[in-house]
Formats: sequence, C-alpha cells, structure tokens
Amino acid sequence: MVAIGSLMLGSLIAVGLLLTFSWWGLVASMSAAIGAFLSWLLFRCLAEHLRLQKKIAGCDFEGTITGPYEETIWACGNCGQMLHTDLRCDSCGAEIASDDN
Ligand SMILES: [Zn+2]
Repeated sequence: MVAIGSLMLGSLIAVGLLLTFSWWGLVASMSAAIGAFLSWLLFRCLAEHLRLQKKIAGCDFEGTITGPYEETIWACGNCGQMLHTDLRCDSCGAEIASDDN
C-alpha cells in the first residue's frame, strides 16, 4: 500500500508541476515521476524481502512471493540425463516406459 501510495503521490506531483509551470515544470515533472517510480520499486523490493524472511522464519505473511514457479524436469532412469521427449532418451537411447500404457 505504501508503494502504490508513493507512486500515486509522485504521479500527482508530476502532473501538478507539469500543469503549473511550463518548461521547467517538464523537467521537474520528469524528475518527480522518476523519483516516484524508484521509490515504488524500493518499497516493492523491501516488501518482497520481508516476505522471504518471514517465509524462512516460518511466520505467516500476506501477499505472494514473485519468482519462478515449480517445474517438473523428467530424467532418464537409465542414465540420469534430462529428457527432452517422452518417447526415448536422447543420451542413451532407452525407450521411455510410462505407467499409463
Ligand atoms: Zn538415458
């Protein structure tokens, strides 16, 4: 909430500066907008860090932790190499037998 609030406040200040002053208002508006974006980024980063620390400590936390989701990588049971197809292993040539058929 603080991150979004700072971004909105900075945007309002940027628009206000742009409307109030003409040319120097443009420069000040750009710097206010960049500052608002950077503070939004900083607050988001801090929030993510707190969530990660809470997760490591085993505490409850709100929000979601961004990042890659879990993926399943299939490996050959014969040679242990990663499988690229579901028919046969590219490394050792063993055919893949599934439990379905
Ligand atoms: Zn293999």
